[in-house]
Amino acid sequence: MDIIQENCGYCGTCVCVCPENVIELEENGLIIKDGCTECGNCAIVCPLGALNPEG
Ligand code: SF4
Ligand code: SF4
Repeated sequence: MDIIQENCGYCGTCVCVCPENVIELEENGLIIKDGCTECGNCAIVCPLGALNPEG
C-alpha cells in the first residue's frame, strides 16, 4: 500500500478500518508499519484518495 502524503488530510478513517492495526498518524505524516496484508480496506475508505493499492 502506497501513501500519497500530499493528499492525506489526517482524518484518521483509515486507521480505524485496518484489521492489522498497522496504520499510524504521526506528526510528520501517515505511516504503515510492517504487517500490512494489502487487504485494501484503507484505500476503499479514504475520502481523499491518499492510499494507492497499486503500490
Ligand atoms: S491494506 Fe489493509 S492491512 Fe494494509 S494498511 Fe490498509 S487496511 Fe491495513
Ligand atoms: S483515510 Fe485518507 S485522508 Fe484520512 S488519514 Fe487515512 S490516508 Fe489520510
